[in-house]
Amino acid sequence: MSIVIKGATVVSTHGQRQLDVRIVDEKVTELGVNLATTADTVVDATGCYLFPGFIDAHTHMELNNGPGTASTADNFTTGSLAAVAKGTTSVLDMATPDRGHSLQDCLTTWNSLAAGKSSCDYSYHMSIIEWNQQLAAEVPKMAAQGITSFKMYMAYDNLRTSDAEIYAAMCEIKKVHGMLGIHCENGDLVNTLQTEYLAKGLTAPKYHPMTRPNMVEAEAINRYLTIAALVGLPVNIVHLSTRESLAVVRAARARGQQVYVETCPQYLLLDDHYYDLPDFEGAKYICSPPLRSTADEAALWQALEQGEINTISTDHCDFNFHDQKFIGKDDFTKIPGGMPGVETRPELIYTAGVATGKISLEQFVGLLSENIARQFGMYPQKGVIQIGSDADLVIWDPQQQGVISAATQLQNVDYTAYEGFKTQGAARAVYLRGQQAAANGKVLAGQQGKFVFRHGSDYNLK
Ligand SMILES: [Zn+2]
Repeated sequence: MSIVIKGATVVSTHGQRQLDVRIVDEKVTELGVNLATTADTVVDATGCYLFPGFIDAHTHMELNNGPGTASTADNFTTGSLAAVAKGTTSVLDMATPDRGHSLQDCLTTWNSLAAGKSSCDYSYHMSIIEWNQQLAAEVPKMAAQGITSFKMYMAYDNLRTSDAEIYAAMCEIKKVHGMLGIHCENGDLVNTLQTEYLAKGLTAPKYHPMTRPNMVEAEAINRYLTIAALVGLPVNIVHLSTRESLAVVRAARARGQQVYVETCPQYLLLDDHYYDLPDFEGAKYICSPPLRSTADEAALWQALEQGEINTISTDHCDFNFHDQKFIGKDDFTKIPGGMPGVETRPELIYTAGVATGKISLEQFVGLLSENIARQFGMYPQKGVIQIGSDADLVIWDPQQQGVISAATQLQNVDYTAYEGFKTQGAARAVYLRGQQAAANGKVLAGQQGKFVFRHGSDYNLK
């Protein structure tokens, strides 16, 4: 099976050039000007960009919070369809073990959720929610199976560990050149503020951000980076959302520390006034960290422009507004946290970032694909269009316009946080390892996703 894509502008983090691309079976085999069109299929992509398939490094495709609580509206089948339809060809999902269970058990569970069901390629960040000698011994076993990234929590009582446990885990992760990401919020302070608000009868969604203020994130990030500096481990900050946190990161980098920063579309495009919406609509926007002020949004955009943020992923974790979010109708702390997002990230960031001139095409490719592939040990199999790479490709039509709506989305959830948002640019065709997976937002070939065996991380920041 061979395909030649002609006439597109191929974009990488280093630049852009009009090149033809030949695909044979699953790989890119040739790039050049005026390639011979001896192929099974020739695609004219004149006027379009050709991007490496986008990678979402932060999804919760299928999360079950246990008996009596909510399971996500999407599962791997529906979430990955929504991903690949709009150009995301790989996801790194958060695999979370139950307390008392091994990481190996968790890996088995997540393989059963994704294998044969995912329409995009996939791997997992393995969550470490407690610490002991058995778990320490499992870190190299995970790396040997291609799981080289890990997730820990400083908030949520059922998930968080102590600073000493984080230190100990970091020491083991460093030995395998692994990448750690931590949910940074001071869990004790969040608990205290929530108790205070509820005791005063303040139960509406608008109190959610007030119980998780900016400094609660910045303090946790500072503590995290302090521990990482002691260990000498380059680390990832997931979903950074505040200007105070950026100041902490700048200080750490100024003293020579390697820090990777992820933010998410919701912190760039939505602000905390949504929590004031009537009729409990604010619950749609409950996520942690919460949406922030317009000043934080502006600071994040400035950091993006300056190259201080490495990656944009989604924290896709969706619950239906009706039924599920309403669990917390009388108590905002019971509203299941998270929002849909895996489908809309490319169009949102292209529209708000590239089409406005805030970020370049090269930055866009880095933030949504190449930087993620490098950071999480998938490069150059993923994240770049070059000879030998997987033919994960997005033919992007910059002229195509659309409107985001719950009525037309593929995400299996009853709302979108971006209802009515006008988009500029869209994926005209999406290829997953040489097979066309989607055309104009419609999935052609689903459930072709494979597990991606990942290596130790490339710790070299650009
Ligand atoms: Zn998350």
